[in-house]
Amino acid sequence: MKTRTRFAPSPTGNVHIGNMRAAIYNWLFARHTGGDFLLRVEDTDRERSTPEAIQTLLDAMAWLKLDVDEEPLYQSTRAEAHLAAAETLLAQGLAYKEDKGGTGQGECVIFKMPGRDGSFADGLKGTLSKKAENMQDFVIVRSNGTPVFHLANVLDDIEQGVTHVIRGDDHIENTYRHIALYEALGADVPIFAHLPMIVNAQGKPYSKRDGDAFVGDFRDKGFLGDALFNYLALLGWSPGDDREVMTRAEMIEAFTLERCQSSAAQVDLRKLTWMNGEYMLKLPLDEFEAMAFAALEKAGIDAEPEYAARVFGLIRERVKTVADIVPMTAYFFTEEYAFDEKAVRKKFQKDGVEDILNQLKDLFLSLDTFDEASTDQALHAFIEESRLGFGAVMAPIRIAVCGVQSGPEMFPMLATLGRARVVERMDRAIERFLK
Ligand code: GLU
Repeated sequence: MKTRTRFAPSPTGNVHIGNMRAAIYNWLFARHTGGDFLLRVEDTDRERSTPEAIQTLLDAMAWLKLDVDEEPLYQSTRAEAHLAAAETLLAQGLAYKEDKGGTGQGECVIFKMPGRDGSFADGLKGTLSKKAENMQDFVIVRSNGTPVFHLANVLDDIEQGVTHVIRGDDHIENTYRHIALYEALGADVPIFAHLPMIVNAQGKPYSKRDGDAFVGDFRDKGFLGDALFNYLALLGWSPGDDREVMTRAEMIEAFTLERCQSSAAQVDLRKLTWMNGEYMLKLPLDEFEAMAFAALEKAGIDAEPEYAARVFGLIRERVKTVADIVPMTAYFFTEEYAFDEKAVRKKFQKDGVEDILNQLKDLFLSLDTFDEASTDQALHAFIEESRLGFGAVMAPIRIAVCGVQSGPEMFPMLATLGRARVVERMDRAIERFLK
């Protein structure tokens, strides 16, 4: 039988990474088994499930390239079918009506639990059981006539032919009820697999308070969809060896529920940042450049294409997220670059620096050509002859021309800026900090 999995989020305008990980596992499982991956939008809370909230959800899925095999099913369109099924259960004596709380506000429909112990083989956690006396009858249609989550969720899974329900383990208690509903409705019970929670460093459910928790946050901060996908895939699953950066095809090939861990998975944003850097490095050059240009444009920086391409080449290997690009390159494009005050005080405003910089300026102006090799050779010769330390010479130049102490390699950086800019900047820094 073809496997069919689904992602069944309730759109709220934000997509938590825990939900998205469930979507990723359903997707990987469907692709690994050659089955179908479906989307069901559980949009019965009309206040929260606005068109914008639904769009946020669809955008997040598109960004992570979670393609679906059928048109999404919108739960809100199915109310009639849900209510009809409740009627059938009533007619069969499997549910009853009650004025809950005796408020006179009308009757709700209550599903009768079968009175047997519940048990199922969870695809991740092994056999889970619950005693009959701990399972109470529950409402399936509210007194205002709206179907409750349990009924809608189960009926829609039946409608969509879902064979495997992979979802968070906060749903385990619901699953005992859902299985009883499947049986009462005469439908095949799918296989359930409950994923452990994603937690913070204290072992508590990972939330917005712990840092970025929504898919959109990562997108805004310059992470790549493919990197977040890979990171979330490994947050609770392992290919069984020490591979970390993996292609989609490799993840699909290796993904099994047996290799999912049953204990909570801890978010490590440093690891995600590292992984994103690996993906940035693997981006084709033209894609990287397009992203970098867009980032500069957004920051209001005008960049001449050929010069900018050289600049991007200098920082490419050090970029961890798209958000690094502007701070790492801004000084190449403007004379209003910021100075690191501490570096200026410690490494620039020192006796002898003015003299060194003046000599270096003359040296730079005297070179036939000003490129990587000529500046490299000239500076090394200068350091040797003057017997000044490497740092004593390099730090003031870098601070003068970049404003900061770290950055791309010195000689390619100088060559890219070009002689005129370098010399002017040295002059201006002397005026500003040493006079
Ligand atoms: N809308 C529910 C949720 O987001 C669905 C759970 C499920 O069955 O996957 O928690």
